[in-house]
Amino acid sequence: MHEMSLAQAMLALAQQHAAGQRIVALRVRVGALSGVVTDSLEFSFELLSQGTSAAGARLEYEFVPVQMTCRACGADVPTDKWCELPGNEAVLMALEKGCACGCKELKITGGYDFQLVEIEVA
Ligand SMILES: [Zn+2]
Repeated sequence: MHEMSLAQAMLALAQQHAAGQRIVALRVRVGALSGVVTDSLEFSFELLSQGTSAAGARLEYEFVPVQMTCRACGADVPTDKWCELPGNEAVLMALEKGCACGCKELKITGGYDFQLVEIEVA
């Protein structure tokens, strides 16, 4: 279970930064292609944080959409209209549509993020 190890790493990092203070919230950046299931992450975090200074802390998300760039002209190709789709489907839609310049060779330049960006202490 991927989320369990991510939750463990998040908890360790948050505790290190909080230096003994009680942690009330963690802000996490989650990319559309990260494969992270937030429900599982929350479940794992809740389990692991029991009895620690982060018990009961809430998780806040900053979702990062898929980012695609055209190989021909270097333009960013918008994928926001497919943001409701799973990341890999958004990639397929973008590849099918291509860049405004007519080129269909796009590369993925973002959306793999998983990062603890901020913690809030009491
Ligand atoms: Zn282009």
